[in-house]
Amino acid sequence: MKFLSPNVCGSLLSAAAFFLAPATWAANSFSTVVIDPGHGGFDRGGIPGQRVPEKTVALDTAVRLQRLLQRAGLHTVMTRSADVFIPLPGRAAIANAQPDSIFVSIHYNASPRSGARGIETYSEDSRGRVLAARIQREIISRVSTENRGIRHAEYFVLRKCQRPAVLVECGFLTNPAEAELALTAGYRQMVAEQIAAGILEQRHFAFPAATHSKSHKKHHKSYRVARSSG
Ligand SMILES: [Zn+2]
Repeated sequence: MKFLSPNVCGSLLSAAAFFLAPATWAANSFSTVVIDPGHGGFDRGGIPGQRVPEKTVALDTAVRLQRLLQRAGLHTVMTRSADVFIPLPGRAAIANAQPDSIFVSIHYNASPRSGARGIETYSEDSRGRVLAARIQREIISRVSTENRGIRHAEYFVLRKCQRPAVLVECGFLTNPAEAELALTAGYRQMVAEQIAAGILEQRHFAFPAATHSKSHKKHHKSYRVARSSG
């Protein structure tokens, strides 16, 4: 999986931000991004026996994203900035307290099958879906891995969030090659830059009205819930 050096990426992103700056934002655009690093504290994330803890790389990627968005003039709020556990309702409440915001949850994936690889971005309604599509496209444009596409899932934080919300799975920590990459600052910076690019792009477009789509299958991760619960 190849990727450009962080320096090249950083300057490309600043150039893009500068170029886009004078434009007018879409009518229902946002000024705040609530960034949610998955897991934390006793909750390492991933699956039992996983070598690389998801909570650590998710937080680092989220902090990098925060820096990039702040540099681009957006207000940011972190659901956690340290290795602490924030219950899922608390995360949704933080997001819902922010007017004019979007919610971006940062995760890394896991599978009992070590060959599973790639990037996928989840959303729960039509607004999240357009944002998910931009973020997914931006990441895939620079990460040479499987494009697992944009998906719908009953993630608790997405369903409880009243704002446009996405959850990005930035690669599989159970895949030896992707875990190795995720442990490099260069990869985490690149992913953060591409998520930032998708977010900044979205500011130029109005969100569609919120319509919820039906889930096709049930998932069994703790972050995901059945529609009938909670
Ligand atoms: Zn996770």
